[in-house]
Amino acid sequence: MGVIEREKLRTFTVGQATVTRIEETNFPCYPLRDIFPDFSDAHMAEHKSWLAPHHYDPGKGLIVLSVHSWLLQVGGKKILIDSCCGNNKIKPGRPWWNMLNVNYLERLAVAGARPEEIDLVMCTHLHHDHVGWNTQQKDGKWVPTFPNARYVFNKPDIDYFAKIDADPKEGPAELGTFRECVVPILEYGKADVIAGAHRINDFIEIDTAPGHSPGHVFFKLESKGERAAFIGDVWHHLLQVYYPDWNFPKNSDAAQARVSRRKVLDYCAASGALVFPGHVGAPFAGRVEKAADGYRPNF
Ligand SMILES: [Zn+2]
Repeated sequence: MGVIEREKLRTFTVGQATVTRIEETNFPCYPLRDIFPDFSDAHMAEHKSWLAPHHYDPGKGLIVLSVHSWLLQVGGKKILIDSCCGNNKIKPGRPWWNMLNVNYLERLAVAGARPEEIDLVMCTHLHHDHVGWNTQQKDGKWVPTFPNARYVFNKPDIDYFAKIDADPKEGPAELGTFRECVVPILEYGKADVIAGAHRINDFIEIDTAPGHSPGHVFFKLESKGERAAFIGDVWHHLLQVYYPDWNFPKNSDAAQARVSRRKVLDYCAASGALVFPGHVGAPFAGRVEKAADGYRPNF
């Protein structure tokens, strides 16, 4: 495996747990000033030193967003957290998601988990880029990619996207991804549907962080006195640690998303948890520190 390929599988340790990043994609995609309209030249001067190249492409003016899963191995279980976009999906209007062809499952196997070995798939929320590998198309049908896994979904997201999906004016939800990657899991009886905060086992607890979607959750891990937090899209970019009121677009409730961001920032700063976001660029995981006027990322 070459250096670039190894970088796609960066591994972290939390107590007795190992956490490996499984990259699907990582490149500049959205204009920074469209995403964060309050971003000014003064902000650029202040943050220039760390933004490029892993979080911003100055030549193109685009923010860099990674799409990856986290493979968590703890207590003898192999747990996949968020499952990216998936291959071979027709998504017109989303050029970087259309007909992806990424050797994601090979990367996952190199990291230590063949599909049949995954025990649990946990989705922080049910947006397109967090459920994609839940299923694969076989003989024209969407079937579970991880045949022996239970899939953990939070009910408020199922209800929310099912309603959009059923509405001919608004549906299909998530560019069709809800029908392709969530509904089949429910129909195959593979889903464990939770309703809010929930403990999975001795190591993992689910807590709520609604706003980006109504059922967005984050996962707290504890092993041997060390902590981690898998926060999904509570923040997409490290600028939002400095400016917690800056939302990424596409929230079910923008005000609630800001409240949840502060809740999770507080938890991460107070607990010293190693933070694993869903889209932050290299080095992909880090800590949050409380500062006199807010929070600072230490990634
Ligand atoms: Zn996302």
